[in-house]
Amino acid sequence: KVPVNFLLKEMLNFMYPRFSEANIVTSTDLGEDVVIEGDSSQIKQVLLNILVNAVEELSGWDGERRIKVSLKKIDDTFVSLSICNNGNPIPDYLLENVFQPFVTTKSLGTGLGLSVCKQIVEKHNGTIEVRSGDDFTCFIIKFPLQ
Ligand code: ADP
Ligand code: MG
Repeated sequence: KVPVNFLLKEMLNFMYPRFSEANIVTSTDLGEDVVIEGDSSQIKQVLLNILVNAVEELSGWDGERRIKVSLKKIDDTFVSLSICNNGNPIPDYLLENVFQPFVTTKSLGTGLGLSVCKQIVEKHNGTIEVRSGDDFTCFIIKFPLQ
């Protein structure tokens, strides 16, 4: 049993020094407790890969830097988790390929973070998608509930 709220809080705490160093303001809406079935350390890996990308993106952003995290039950069967950051939107050509291995725009990137996220989420019978607009880039993950 994986307590998703709890893991999210843990990963946000873990990342706090980096948020703070990069002057990133976070807001969270974690709602009620949510439990899914799976592997906690793999789910942590997913959250971390996405949060690290958000910090990396915002570190090159001149202006207010924001990360928003929300978790909510859609109904009795699914939970939706979204991690959003402001900054430059992801261009269309890249949006279709960000989950492919070795796709990176960073000089020292591996391009593996999001492909690992997708593999882990799908192994947990979930889905992951990205939406990027003028205001925010969001990674939205849906997991079946216990
Ligand atoms: P890496 O971080 O090593 O580049 P990832 O698989 O984690 O590999 O990400 C792939 C690419 O997706 C990144 O290089 C970047 O171009 C884009 N990307 C991922 N997350 C974000 C984000 N939050 N904002 C903007 N671009 C992003
Ligand atoms: Mg990455």
